Amino acid sequence: MENVLFREFEEECKHCHGKGYTEVYSEKFWEEVEHLDLLYPTYEQAFIIALDKYPEEVDQEICTQCNGNTVMPNQYGQAIIQNKDFIIEFLQKYKLI
Ligand SMILES: [Zn+2]
Repeated sequence: MENVLFREFEEECKHCHGKGYTEVYSEKFWEEVEHLDLLYPTYEQAFIIALDKYPEEVDQEICTQCNGNTVMPNQYGQAIIQNKDFIIEFLQKYKLI
């Protein structure tokens, strides 16, 4: 089970929308989208059709923001990171680490 506490300190990565990876499209993919755009009413439609037709032109890359963690520290998580020396001191004081 996921540690409940983590949810208090983390939030979904906005860069990859919580997927942990981002899609990388080849040059050929964009050319195909341009081509399909002439055949379909909207660019979005052309894009979706291209995704379906040319999956081999789409690569997945580990999200550079969250390193594939799917989450990022929120403001409380950031506060912990910024105060890590005090937190370590605290844990050492009570012989927890
Ligand atoms: Zn991410």
